[in-house]
Amino acid sequence: MCGIVAYTGSNQAFDFLIKGLQRLEYRGYDSAGIALLNGGLSVYKQKGKVQDLIELTKGKDVHGTTGMGHTRWATHGEPNQINAHPHVSQNGDLAVIHNGIIENYATLKEALLKRGHEFESDTDTEVLIHLIEDIRNHEGVDLLEAVRLALNEVVGAYAIVILSKNDPGTLIGARKGSPLVVGIGKDNEEFFMASDATPIVEYTRDVIYLEDNEIAHIANGELKVKTIQNVEKTPYIHKLEVTLEAIEKGGYEHFMLKEIYEQPKSIYDSMRGRFNKNDLTFAMRSLREYESKIKNLNRIIIVGCGTSWHAGLVGEYLIEEFARLPVEVEYASEFRYRDPIITEDDLVIAISQSGETADTLAALELAKEKGATIYGICNVVGSSIPRITHAGAYTHAGPEIGVASTKAFTAQVTVLTLIALGIAEIRGKITKERLRQVFAELEVLPEKVEHVLKNCADKVLEISERYKDAENFLYLGRGVNFPVALEGALKLKEISYIHAEGYPAAEMKHGPIALIDENMPVVVVAPKRGYYEKVLSNIQEVKARKGNIISIVTEGDDKVKSISDYAIEIPDTEDCLVPILATIPMQLLSYHIAVMRGCNVDQPRNLAKSVTVE
Ligand code: GLU
Repeated sequence: MCGIVAYTGSNQAFDFLIKGLQRLEYRGYDSAGIALLNGGLSVYKQKGKVQDLIELTKGKDVHGTTGMGHTRWATHGEPNQINAHPHVSQNGDLAVIHNGIIENYATLKEALLKRGHEFESDTDTEVLIHLIEDIRNHEGVDLLEAVRLALNEVVGAYAIVILSKNDPGTLIGARKGSPLVVGIGKDNEEFFMASDATPIVEYTRDVIYLEDNEIAHIANGELKVKTIQNVEKTPYIHKLEVTLEAIEKGGYEHFMLKEIYEQPKSIYDSMRGRFNKNDLTFAMRSLREYESKIKNLNRIIIVGCGTSWHAGLVGEYLIEEFARLPVEVEYASEFRYRDPIITEDDLVIAISQSGETADTLAALELAKEKGATIYGICNVVGSSIPRITHAGAYTHAGPEIGVASTKAFTAQVTVLTLIALGIAEIRGKITKERLRQVFAELEVLPEKVEHVLKNCADKVLEISERYKDAENFLYLGRGVNFPVALEGALKLKEISYIHAEGYPAAEMKHGPIALIDENMPVVVVAPKRGYYEKVLSNIQEVKARKGNIISIVTEGDDKVKSISDYAIEIPDTEDCLVPILATIPMQLLSYHIAVMRGCNVDQPRNLAKSVTVE
């Protein structure tokens, strides 16, 4: 949450900053602001989107070859112009942008108030820049040292960039808990900083991922890194692999739609090279290296938040079914605060698209401390979770920019399927024949996803038109498709603001059935597999109360179709892969309804991607 971007070099900073903020806008869009060094320190900030900032700066002097920008997801203080970043120090010499939360800001603020500081905003961030200035003035140290000393007093999470009016060409960045990437331009002529690599990739492929408690100092065309304990570091330069096309809309009206349509490829990429259907083996190094550990596992705990938690629930069904190993799925935010019982024979799997989700990261750290083996399933290469885990598998879905997760979810489920099968194989719980069947289906899965996307498009549009004004939706599924119902409901809520609930189909009788009347659309995942007859009965129960049935059925199944108001067909597949196929029409349904209701699909209100605050 919150996107930060900064530049110093021989070119004008403004265009880079604005374009960078637009690329990072998925991280927050409550307000946007920039600061530029141009002899003085010019700060422009505005409530709302980056576009509002662009309007504000029209006709203004925005020159300067060093600058920084911020797009905010408010934690402390309402989203208005005053609380927007950058924030400046008491004498106006220093400015900061920040992603994270300074937890002890109230104590620090009280002390600073006593020393005569005056604050404009309600943010925690403003306190930090006042503290840095206070230390610099009273300790008689230079800016870098003042930043270092201040960060030693701070409790909380941050990625920050600091500019100083009196230090042109200088950028100071630091991180703890929130991400910060430093880009190094050709011949060290220019430097970039950003919350993720997307603003940088157009200019350089050489980047450094700053570690927790590290400070990057760029001055006179030179980059130095040290820890807040004052230990010099030799930064490791990574080569970025992400392409520019991957982070642009490529002709689609929204990133979300592009990402939905990318799924045949992203699913293929998430399994590519990871199994061999001829000799029925796995090539997942992360599993192979931990074979002896996996053989002796006691149980698996999966932690995640939001959509990733739903993927975890699918994983629970799959791992228990194939590997016959107990699995618990936990909200990372709950897990981390309840002193969970974890042993060395536990495997804790964290799922996070961004790899930066604050609660998930903290849950993993806790599990590691308690001796568990920790494993990450993440999409963003080089992000924080993969860097602290013992092992893991990237989902390789490519950059996901739409705030509502789509292709990351299906890639997570694909990877979890492989993990379930891999663990089953290592523990001798699956026959070769069964592996052969699932591998064969996995191989044709991308084609089947493609087929669903083509085949259901018109039907989903028709359904969206019919129910776009509904006030509530219910989503039902059983077994491995219950989490699919949860995910379908979440997607609709997130982007169309229609209240929706996901429920296990049979559980509906214990409460939500009271809500059903002729105005209630009920989406039911009803493939001709698993609990087919049982789901059929649940559909009848809804029908008997005049609910409207939108069913997701196996191609050729006329039985469910005949009792549904609308039916969307998906090809038959293995039970374990139905969640992926059934998710696709639900994503499209949410998308079209949201567009028809005039909602901002890629940047839904109050939400942000990459939740780096707890
Ligand atoms: N705590 C800061 C604010 O409210 C930054 C928020 C964030 O990173 O999400 O302005």
